[in-house]
Amino acid sequence: MVHAPARAASGSPAVRINLYSDTQTRPTNAMKTAMMAAEVGDEQHGDDPTVHQLCDRMAALLGKEAAIFLPSGTMCNVVALNTHCRSGDEVLAHETAHILTSEGGSHAAIAGVQINALRGPRGLFDAATLRAAIRPRTRYAPPQTLLEIEQTANIGGGTIWPRSTLDELTAIARNEGWATHMDGARLMNACVATNIRPADMCAGFDSVWLDFTKGLGAPLGAVLAGSHDFIGRAWRWKQRLGGSMRQAGICAAACLYALDHNVERLADDHVHARALAAGLARLPGVDVAEPDTNLVFFDVARAGTTAAALQAALRSQGIAISLLGGRLRACTHLDVSASMIDETLGAIAGIIRR
Ligand SMILES: *Cc1c(COP(=O)(O)O)cnc(C)c1O
Repeated sequence: MVHAPARAASGSPAVRINLYSDTQTRPTNAMKTAMMAAEVGDEQHGDDPTVHQLCDRMAALLGKEAAIFLPSGTMCNVVALNTHCRSGDEVLAHETAHILTSEGGSHAAIAGVQINALRGPRGLFDAATLRAAIRPRTRYAPPQTLLEIEQTANIGGGTIWPRSTLDELTAIARNEGWATHMDGARLMNACVATNIRPADMCAGFDSVWLDFTKGLGAPLGAVLAGSHDFIGRAWRWKQRLGGSMRQAGICAAACLYALDHNVERLADDHVHARALAAGLARLPGVDVAEPDTNLVFFDVARAGTTAAALQAALRSQGIAISLLGGRLRACTHLDVSASMIDETLGAIAGIIRR
């Protein structure tokens, strides 16, 4: 059976505090005004000036030659893996990577690649782990052709890969002749938290993409960047997968607005996440990881309740949080204020006390 996304149970109150995901932000009136003013054209024909403006700006921001606008982050990964790899290839990625856990088996179904699931704490792995995964070049072994890294590592805890680790890993990949791909769904969170420029963060990578529907608050859209040659070949996959659009400038305008207004403020989300984690750590029996960015993962098994029970009890009070990789996840974003964090902490304390 295939599960459709859950609908809010009838009778449950409206969500007042949405810590479920940074994907659930709504476009503000100012963003919608920017969208309405967008100059548009036929994107599929290469005629949409606002899409061109966004792609040029993203290529510059990410330090790559060219960029392509796609409807979603998932499609960026699907287009990138199909462009980098051939059927039968092996991709090296962390075992919690979105490409492995959350893309509907796309990479097996469409690219025909297998993913070697590497292990390591907090969604990260080190150079020794990557080296140990290198296969002999024999007719028996699958050809290894791509290293994939998620910055930040979502299920890992919104974890930031240190620049030094990225450099070590991409050096190994280059040495082996592999291509390198960065899933930068939340790249700007990593850059704002570390003060590292996006182009520097992904300098060792052949391709990288950024999602506009996470903390940046746009209704849809993601941009994949790479060399002229890579983006030229990616266009065929965009077309093949049905990702070529028409007057897409209306959406690209929301992304441009997000770049102008919603990047620096990610620092506020990180402050709120740290405050939530600090408050949770003070509650008896709650185990919480110190967040690097805007994702707070925690366990309540020692607090005499279950994750599902706490999630349901919060939901009955209009507070939404998610369950991911067996743990509770609270996500801060532009619709979450400091007072909402306080209220959530009070609600969790009350539920655990009962
Ligand atoms: C959300 C996410 C994606 C997919 O992006 P969509 O825009 O939801 O398709 C890919 N990778 C990571 C790490 C994500 O968090």
